[in-house]
Amino acid sequence: MSQNRNVSERLENAFPNIYTISNLIFWAKSILQKSNIDSPRLDAEIILSHILHCKRIDLYVHPDRVVEDTVALTYKNAIQKRAWRVPLQYITNHEEFMSMDFYVDERVLIPRQETELLVEAVIKKLQSTPRNHEIIIVDIGVGSGNIAITLAKKIENARIFAIDISPDALEVANINARRHQVLDKIIFLCGDIYKPLEGYKLESKVDVIVSNPPYIATDEFHILQEEVRRFEPYNALVSGRNGLQMFCRILKDAHAWLKPGGFIAMEVGEKQAQKVAQLIEDRGCFQKPELIKDYQHIYRIVISKRL
Ligand code: GLN
Repeated sequence: MSQNRNVSERLENAFPNIYTISNLIFWAKSILQKSNIDSPRLDAEIILSHILHCKRIDLYVHPDRVVEDTVALTYKNAIQKRAWRVPLQYITNHEEFMSMDFYVDERVLIPRQETELLVEAVIKKLQSTPRNHEIIIVDIGVGSGNIAITLAKKIENARIFAIDISPDALEVANINARRHQVLDKIIFLCGDIYKPLEGYKLESKVDVIVSNPPYIATDEFHILQEEVRRFEPYNALVSGRNGLQMFCRILKDAHAWLKPGGFIAMEVGEKQAQKVAQLIEDRGCFQKPELIKDYQHIYRIVISKRL
C-alpha cells in the first residue's frame, strides 16, 4: 500500500500545467523511471500513442500539440497503473502474436513470442500430412485464443476445439476469434482438459493436440517478474509443486483422443523438455519425441506422434 501511496504522491507533484505531448512524456518517463520500469520512455510513448490513437512517430512530429484535459487525465491514470507494475499489454489491451493483433486483459495470459514456435511447429508438421480431409485440432488452455486462432487462420481445413477451464478466458478468446473472423472454425468449450470433448465422438479422431499449459512450479512462483506474478492469471501459470502436473494430466488420455499418426505438441518450461519427453515415452504409445529450441537455445517445444 505504501508503495502505491508513494506512486500517487509522485504523480501529483510534477504533473505538467500545460498538457503538451512533450511535457506529458517527460513527466511520465520520470515517474516510470522512479518506479524502476525497464523501458520508461518507450512505455510512456506507447501508452500515450494508444490513448491518442496515433503512431509513436506522430508524438515526435507534433511534440507541442496540446491535448485535451480528459486525455491528460486518462494518461495520468494509465501511467499510475504502469508505475504499479500492471503489464503494458493490460493497459493498452493489445499484444501481437504471429503478426496478428490480440485483445488481452487480466483474464488471460499475455501471449509470448516462444509460443509462436509452437504454432509454427504444428503448421510445419501438418504440411507433411495429407490435406484432403478436415484437420481436427484440440487446443488445451486456450487463454486469449492465440494458438487456436492463428492455427484457424493458417490451416485452411482446420476444425478446432478450444478448451479452457476459465469462462473468463473463453470470453476473451471469443472476442479475438470474432476480430479475426474465425468463429466458424473454432468450437469453444469450457471445462477441465478433455472433459468437454465428451459427446463429440472424437475418440481416436483427433489429428493434433496442442497446448501451452501452465508449467511453473509453485516453489518457483516467487522468482517470476513482478508484472507476471502480480497481474497475470495464477492458474494459467502454475502447475503443482514441480510444474509438471498439467503435462501428466494432458498426457494421461492423449492417446485415446489422437488418431494413429496424429500428434501432440506442447510448450514446456526451461529444463522441462527432457522430463516431458520421458513422460511421453513412458506412455508407450508415442514415437520418440522431437524437441525444438527457442531463440535463447532452450528446448521449448516437445512434439510426438501417436503410434
Ligand atoms: N494459449 C494461451 C497462450 O499460449 C494460454 C496459455 C495458458 O493459459 N497457459 O498464451
